[in-house]
Amino acid sequence: MLIGDGFGLAQMSALMYQNGNRCSLEAFPVIGLHKTTSYDNLITDSAAGATAFSCGKKTYNAAIGMDKDTLACRTILEQAEDRQMATGMVVTSPITHATPASFIAHVPVRTLNEEIAEDFMDTEIDLFIGGGQRYFERRADDRNLIKELEAKGYYIYSYFNTDLARIHRLDKKRNFAYFSADNQPVSAIQGRTYLPYAARLAMPFLDARSEKGFFLMIEGSQIDWGGHAKDAPMMLAELKDFDDTIKEVLKFAALDRETLVIVTGDHECGGVTIQPGSKFKKLDLAFSTNGHTASLVPVYAYGPKAELFRGTYDNTQIYFKMVEALGW
Ligand code: MG
Ligand code: ZN
Repeated sequence: MLIGDGFGLAQMSALMYQNGNRCSLEAFPVIGLHKTTSYDNLITDSAAGATAFSCGKKTYNAAIGMDKDTLACRTILEQAEDRQMATGMVVTSPITHATPASFIAHVPVRTLNEEIAEDFMDTEIDLFIGGGQRYFERRADDRNLIKELEAKGYYIYSYFNTDLARIHRLDKKRNFAYFSADNQPVSAIQGRTYLPYAARLAMPFLDARSEKGFFLMIEGSQIDWGGHAKDAPMMLAELKDFDDTIKEVLKFAALDRETLVIVTGDHECGGVTIQPGSKFKKLDLAFSTNGHTASLVPVYAYGPKAELFRGTYDNTQIYFKMVEALGW
């Protein structure tokens, strides 16, 4: 599944018009809409939003892989691991940030980055790529989780000494992790380009890792940050990067024919409108807030069982639809 953080209907429209009136999502035969509200707030944050997808539970804002009573829920990624599927996450935030964290960790508050990193030790996730290296190796408790992961058999690489673009093929015998930043990866407008490439590396690797199939969560993490900053060029560059990533996934799925691709967002951010006077490829975006909004979010589906994602439903239904599509 691909999650655009802060990818609402307005962002989708902006992506389409900025591309000259088309975008890769038009290749998807099925579209739905989801309602993003969390348990305690009409306006969700990314933690409650991602926990709705990963566990099928409405929870309070800031909860990571926990329900409203702070009971840990087994996430779709963990359940995929239980069933010997290969699993992965590829993001442009720290790998401990709210969205990826909600698929693998269980903590009551999203800011507990070091505790979230520890939860990567409890899951045999086959691949992860994202920032946040510091939370694994420069910790208050002096544990070095990178050494611990290596001891568990992971190949670990870092932006510090290896450009991801120079890694052309992954050894399917070992788990793989790549840290793209010490904390936050730079934005697309500052030159970050790895997300589409990371997706292209991850899919055949995960496909080869298990006969049972794979679950991969890819996040365009910084669309949201463009909204918070009310920064239209930043948001548009992040949307383009997300679209390029969707194209890579579609290419794989079209050849593979057994992969269900879901593209959605966790919530809208920025209350974006495309202003009068805008032209294709030259959009004038306005922001009505520097926070999230409750606007509905599109869901695009392609591949086997895509039709399950038609309609208007709560964000938690995305979890149940994935479970049904997987035949669990
Ligand atoms: Mg996020
Ligand atoms: Zn946000």
